[in-house]
Amino acid sequence: MSKRDYYEVLGVTKTVTEVELKVAFRKLAMVHHPDRNPGNKESEIAFKEVNEAYQCLSDGQKRAAYDRFGHAAFQQGGQGGPGFGNEFGDFMSDIFENFFGDGRGQPGAGAGRGRGGAPGRERGADLRFNLEISLEEAFSGKTEAIKIPTSIACEPCSGTGAKPGSKARPCPTCGGYGRVRAAQGFFAIERTCPNCHGRGEVIDDPCPSCSGAGRVTRERNLSINVPAGVDDGLRIRLAGEGESGLRGGPSGDLYVFLSIAPHTFFQRDGADLFCRVPISMVTAALSGEITVPVIDGTQTQVRIPAGTQAGKQFRIKGKGMPVLRSREVGDLYIQVSVETPQNLTKRQRELLQEFDQSASAENHPESAGFFSKVKDFFVAGAGRS
Ligand SMILES: [Zn+2]
Ligand SMILES: [Zn+2]
Repeated sequence: MSKRDYYEVLGVTKTVTEVELKVAFRKLAMVHHPDRNPGNKESEIAFKEVNEAYQCLSDGQKRAAYDRFGHAAFQQGGQGGPGFGNEFGDFMSDIFENFFGDGRGQPGAGAGRGRGGAPGRERGADLRFNLEISLEEAFSGKTEAIKIPTSIACEPCSGTGAKPGSKARPCPTCGGYGRVRAAQGFFAIERTCPNCHGRGEVIDDPCPSCSGAGRVTRERNLSINVPAGVDDGLRIRLAGEGESGLRGGPSGDLYVFLSIAPHTFFQRDGADLFCRVPISMVTAALSGEITVPVIDGTQTQVRIPAGTQAGKQFRIKGKGMPVLRSREVGDLYIQVSVETPQNLTKRQRELLQEFDQSASAENHPESAGFFSKVKDFFVAGAGRS
């Protein structure tokens, strides 16, 4: 079977730029992806073809070799004509020596691997999940089921990225080290191997499920245990629940950032809760009992003594928020506001006027005191000028 031209496979011309190439590849990979075409042999072949073409053309060195030698550049074992494999090998090592001096590692030599563990093993990224809960939920604690889109190790290839049954081979460019050395003036700098992108190995036969990435994106169900008493801005860390690592690397962590939705009538300050409750002018003057809400969903009574002024606070012990990981509980503060009656009838008006006529300074000590101070102030002021 003769192989199709790589450029043709990707539907691009020989002058295609890196970016255009990527776009073309993504489009085709989406169309032929096995997840979208389960059981379709044709798509599977097309997907492999597209992958292979892209793997070659997206790599500067391979593309150059392909432009020069065509498919023969990558045929092993001399099938591309006698002696060709060697010729290509020499050509590659020429390039290599020109670019990287003596930095080429020996395939299979353990020198590189010892340094930082296996090359290409990458810890997965940490994930952030924002979770908003209500104040009631912060009071009682809750278990929240969440779905997080995350990449997990591809099952068919166990995260290796190689097609099941096949294996990755050590990268010939870096000898499996994952990094190459390049001379820059007097210095030799080390950088990530451009051929294997630091993996230390190359995959000839990519896994069809993950296109060789070793990871697939899935929605994961997780249940988050939010303890009672959490506060706004709290961060819960779930170790190992982040993105899975690459090629056997450890998973990242999941951070749940908690925020608590503002409550309709409770304000929170640490473990204490505040609630403003309007009372009538008559209750404030004559005393009475009011019913106030409690965060646990119940109600409680508060005695309002006669002569209660607006803004007065009443403390109800132990009806606040629980303190995180302790047995302590905050208090509930009720602050009363005295509501001035509105829309009075003629009769009500008369009653209030009657009251007013009978009122003395003793009924309103605060305003009496205030206005006598104001008077003093003006008298003193007149004396100064
Ligand atoms: Zn490499
Ligand atoms: Zn896979």
